[in-house]
Amino acid sequence: MAILHSALSMGERYDQWIRIARGEADVVIGARSALFAPFSRPGLIIIDEEHDPSYKQEKKFCYQARDAAIVRAKLTNALVVLGSGTPSIQSYQNAVSGRYGLLTMPERILKRKPPDITVIDMTSFEDSPTARDDSIISPPLRMEIGESLAKRKQAILFLNRRGFSALYLCRFCGESIRCPNCEVSLTYHKYGNNLLCHYCGFRIQPPNRCPLCNREKLKPYGFGTERVVDTLKEVFPDARVERMDRDTMRHKGEVQRVLRRFSQYETDILVGTQMVTKGHDFPKVTLVGVISADLSLNCPDFRAAEITFQLLSQVAGRTGRGRLPGRVIIQTFNPCHYAIIAARDHDYGRFFSHETRLRRQLNYPPFSSIANLRLLGNSRTKTEKIAQQMGERIGKILKRQSKGKNDIAVLGPVEAAIAKLKGKYRQQILIKSRRPRYLNQLLKDVDRGSAQILSSSGVRLMIDVDPYQMM
Ligand SMILES: [Zn+2]
Ligand SMILES: [Zn+2]
Repeated sequence: MAILHSALSMGERYDQWIRIARGEADVVIGARSALFAPFSRPGLIIIDEEHDPSYKQEKKFCYQARDAAIVRAKLTNALVVLGSGTPSIQSYQNAVSGRYGLLTMPERILKRKPPDITVIDMTSFEDSPTARDDSIISPPLRMEIGESLAKRKQAILFLNRRGFSALYLCRFCGESIRCPNCEVSLTYHKYGNNLLCHYCGFRIQPPNRCPLCNREKLKPYGFGTERVVDTLKEVFPDARVERMDRDTMRHKGEVQRVLRRFSQYETDILVGTQMVTKGHDFPKVTLVGVISADLSLNCPDFRAAEITFQLLSQVAGRTGRGRLPGRVIIQTFNPCHYAIIAARDHDYGRFFSHETRLRRQLNYPPFSSIANLRLLGNSRTKTEKIAQQMGERIGKILKRQSKGKNDIAVLGPVEAAIAKLKGKYRQQILIKSRRPRYLNQLLKDVDRGSAQILSSSGVRLMIDVDPYQMM
């Protein structure tokens, strides 16, 4: 057996690589890049949790390892098995349309009952006279946590945002402190008392005065995992609480240490980001609380509902794994959203049919192919100008084409939702087509002519086919 992943040193990776190339390994286990293991004749490729967005590499060489596995298998006549409890819309559509074979497991392991999920409508607490500034844990969830503690059971609370607050906001003029390298707000981290950019790592001490109105009215606004822990400590001072996110897991081995303490019942409540949703198996966890289902739902991304459904189902699966029945509480301001209702009812089928109906109407994958052409440059005006020229060029190419131009839609150029990232200004052109063949041809033509437009402009073009990062 050989292992390939990015935490290996260069030397270790080299040794594994050579062993595989020499035919000394029958099985390779690894993360995304293990797909490129130098097997001469792979017979079987298994992609576990195939829906996981981390199979998509966004930087440098952009590829989706799951879809690339299908291509690699085709070349060598190998078989691919995609496994998931919450399949991606893309793969499931391929299965129901007959392109892939479909194998289902209708029963849970040991015939265990799925956890009981309750959706809490947070709008009903907003205007109540007892609502406090820190009411990020609703009364029903508070009660469930209290009960779990009293029975000496364990709970997991999930929130997909680290830090203490989402923004550092001026209560007078509404200005928030932003990153100078990225056009995003900085997140307040109470531990260490600083403001941090989650995109580029920029860090400063919180200023006293608002940079716009100069008043001393700056305060943290919104919430992250740090604040959930703070609130828990106020409400349940005796509870043993630990936090698991990228900030607390910076040191090597810390993840294992926290999970070990949790599995030995040295922790009552584990608060964390996505890290806590992944595959862990703790039989004494009988309560899972989702602090806000709205964070992922409100992303400007056509996959927002899919990602939310998957997240909720995955995190719900962390409870009820032993003989004790599990309970899940989902807090949301969108209690009627179809993704939340389907997750509550463990109804993948209903979610899939609703989601595919929408995608078909709006012409989104899997019913079309999408490519994002992103232009990145140091100067805003220059990047804008080049994006305009690129847009015009695409228009010209389409005009010349006899076939397929009616099947292609070009959106943009527009400024990306995150207009500046790590010092680079960003413009984007989104291209949609019902026929991948036409899109590929167009992208080839664009790529061929791009050098002329880009030359010595200092602007870079990135072509991302099937983008996962739309911002
Ligand atoms: Zn202000
Ligand atoms: Zn930044």
